[in-house]
Amino acid sequence: MHQPHIAVIGAGPSGLAATRALQKAGIAVTGFEASSGVGGLWDIDNPRSTMYDSAHLISSRTTTQFAEFPMRGDVDYPGHRPVLQYFRDYAAHFGLDAAYRFDTRVTAVTPRAGGGWDVTASAARDEPAGETTEGFDGVVLAGGTLAEPSIPSFRGSFDGELLHSSQYKSARQLDGRRVLIVGAGNSGCDIAVDAVHHAASVDLSVRRGYYFVPRYLFGRPSDTLNQGRPLPARLKQFVDSRVLRAFTGDPVRFGFPKPDYRIYEAHPIVNTLVLGHLGQGDLGIRPDIDRFDGHDVVFRDGTRGTYDTVLLATGYRLDYPFVDRAALNWTGAAPRLYLNVFPPAMNGLYVMGMIEASGIGWQGRYEQAELIAAYLTADDAHRAAFARAIGTAPWPDLTGGYRYLGLERMAYYVNKDAYRRAVRRATASLTAPLR
Ligand SMILES: Cc1cc2nc3c(=O)[nH]c(=O)nc-3n(C[C@H](O)[C@H](O)[C@H](O)COP(=O)(O)OP(=O)(O)OC[C@H]3O[C@@H](n4cnc5c(N)ncnc54)[C@H](O)[C@@H]3O)c2cc1C
Repeated sequence: MHQPHIAVIGAGPSGLAATRALQKAGIAVTGFEASSGVGGLWDIDNPRSTMYDSAHLISSRTTTQFAEFPMRGDVDYPGHRPVLQYFRDYAAHFGLDAAYRFDTRVTAVTPRAGGGWDVTASAARDEPAGETTEGFDGVVLAGGTLAEPSIPSFRGSFDGELLHSSQYKSARQLDGRRVLIVGAGNSGCDIAVDAVHHAASVDLSVRRGYYFVPRYLFGRPSDTLNQGRPLPARLKQFVDSRVLRAFTGDPVRFGFPKPDYRIYEAHPIVNTLVLGHLGQGDLGIRPDIDRFDGHDVVFRDGTRGTYDTVLLATGYRLDYPFVDRAALNWTGAAPRLYLNVFPPAMNGLYVMGMIEASGIGWQGRYEQAELIAAYLTADDAHRAAFARAIGTAPWPDLTGGYRYLGLERMAYYVNKDAYRRAVRRATASLTAPLR
C-alpha cells in the first residue's frame, strides 16, 4: 500500500498537533514554518505573531492543554512566555521539530496532475531566493486564523496614529497619549487595561454590549465549572447570565450598551478588570465611530473626542493566500468545510485550527488532527463511506443550539461540546464496522 506523505503548513499549536497525530499514526510528515521555531503566535518574536507583552491565556491551563502533555506548574492562566516554552517542550518531547523546515514560507499549494498537491516554499527571510517545489499526497493548512487584520473603513481621515491591535506589542507604545481603542473584544479589553497605566487618557468605542466573564468563579477558573455534562443551551444561558449578573453586575451600569443578544451567542469577554477600571474612572465608553476629522473622532451620538492614537481592536480575517479559493470551498467570509476541516470535494487538503469557540483549547485542535489521521489511515471502503456521507447526509449541527450573531468573525464559530462530539464521532466512524 502507498504510504502517504503529508505536508503540514505551520508549527503553531494546530500544526504541531497535526504533526504529532500523523506521526503517531505512522504517516510521513514534512512541516513548513515561516518562523524560526515552533509555537505559532505564542512566540512574540515570530514576525506573524499578534501577541503582546501582557497577554496571558484567557482559557485556563487544564481546559486548554493537550491531554497527553499536561502543562507544568500550577498557574491557572499562564502568560505567553511559559505557553511558548510549553510548545517547545511538547515538540521536543515528541520529536516534532525534526519534521519541520523552519524559516521556510509556503508560497503556493497547487494541484498536481494525477493527484496530490505541489507545495512551493521559499526561505522566509530571503524571498524569492531558494524556491523549491515538492509533491505531497495531502496538505494540512495550519497557518493560523489570527494574523490578517480586519480593518473597517471609516469616513474622513485621522491625522494621529492609526494602529491595528496586531501592531500592538507593549503598553509603552501608548505612553502619554490620548488613546481611543475601537472594539471591546478580548484583545481590546486587554489593551484597555494595559493602557490605563500608561496613556494620558483611554476611551473604548463599542458598537454593541458584551458579556464579561470573570477568570474565577467560586474560587475556581470559571471555564472549569460545568465541564463534562453541558447544560442545554437555553438553560446554560439562563443560569450563567444570572450568575454573571450576581458576580460582575450589569455592564450597562459601567457605560456599556445592553447586549441585543443572549450570552454565548458571541464570544464572551474574559476580563472583569475592565469593569474595575471603568468604576475607577480610568476609562470612558464611547459609541460607534461616525467619522474621523483631523485629530478628532466624531461618534454616532454626535459627541467628539480628540486623540493621538486610535487603536483598532477589530479582529482578524481568514486568509489562505497560497491556495485557490475554490479548492477550499470559500463561501462568504470563510471556507465552508465539513467539520471545519474537509473541503467537500475531499481533494487532499485539510484545514486545522479554523475554529473559533469558547474553551475548545488545543486538545480540541488535536482531536481535529486525530480525525485527519484516522481518515488518512482508513481503508478505501471507510474513506468512500466518509466521503459519501459528506456529499449526501446533512452536516452535523455545530452550534450546540446557540444562535450565533451573523457577524463575519462568527463565520467559523462553533460550540466546543457539539464540535468535539461531532469530531470524535466522525473519527470513530472511520474505524467502526461498516453497515
Ligand atoms: C492575545 C491572544 C490570546 C489568546 N488566548 C487564547 C487562549 O487563552 N486559549 C486558546 O485556546 N486560544 C487563545 N488564542 C488563540 C490562538 O490563536 C490559539 O491558541 C493558537 O495559537 C492557534 O494555533 P494555530 O496553530 O492554529 O495558529 P498560530 O498560532 O497562528 O500558528 C500558525 C503558524 O503558521 C505559520 N505560517 C503561517 N503561514 C505560513 C506559510 N505560508 N508558510 C509557513 N508557515 C506559515 C506561522 O508563522 C505560525 O507559526 C489567543 C490568541 C491571541 C492572539
